[in-house]
Amino acid sequence: MPVTVKSKSKVFISTVLPGSCVLCKGSVSHHNNCLCNLCIANLPWLLNKCPRCSIPFAPNKLCPDCQKTPPVFRRCISAVEYKIGAVDKLIMNIKRNPFCPEIEELSRLLAHTIEQAYQGTCIPGIIIPVPLHWRKLMSRGFNQSSSIARIVASHFSHTKVHENLFIRPKHSSPQHLKTKKQRMLDMCNVFTMYIGHNKVQGDAQLTFSGKSVAIVDDVVTTGATVNALARTLLNSGAKYVDIWSIARTGWHNAS
Ligand SMILES: [Zn+2]
Ligand SMILES: [Zn+2]
Repeated sequence: MPVTVKSKSKVFISTVLPGSCVLCKGSVSHHNNCLCNLCIANLPWLLNKCPRCSIPFAPNKLCPDCQKTPPVFRRCISAVEYKIGAVDKLIMNIKRNPFCPEIEELSRLLAHTIEQAYQGTCIPGIIIPVPLHWRKLMSRGFNQSSSIARIVASHFSHTKVHENLFIRPKHSSPQHLKTKKQRMLDMCNVFTMYIGHNKVQGDAQLTFSGKSVAIVDDVVTTGATVNALARTLLNSGAKYVDIWSIARTGWHNAS
């Protein structure tokens, strides 16, 4: 079905039969997928944050971690703060069901945040979703970061999503039980880049040479995962790497 006909049908159906908000059961406008405008307005939008890693912090002030050991990525752009409640519920849903409307809604909100963050400056043209380890991919059946990356990319004209370029040979145990130091050590050399079936080694510079890249994840917790992937991309010649995530959590178990 052509997109225009599909969108008109969607507007018609949602006007006649407005859906209900997944959070409050109120009516959802046809501009939205599954959240009402009030619930969207009440999300914990990330306004006060570190400009480098996006951790909730004083506005425009580098957090102590970024002052001491800055990440290798240029900046992290996240839409909302990860909190128990609405955000936690929405993120859980997008990890359970690849067809849930929450993925579309949250990715649309992330795309809007990205647009505002770049304010007319160049948006990276290469988008790479954080890969899952094959064991997790098998049990979940899909990679939610890939779905988010594809929807976000559809909002920008010159972007291209590159999937399956990287694999995670190491299966990491639950990260929330570890200290930041342990997580950083875990992430050393965790990503391997492949082109087709070939492991990329010495000629990796050819791949991303001079390119600007954005890594997409659903939630950035410590930044260890995205930092490790950013390092691999920079070693492959990328000019800079930015991080895009729906949610950003604070640092709860630092040591
Ligand atoms: Zn609502
Ligand atoms: Zn920071």
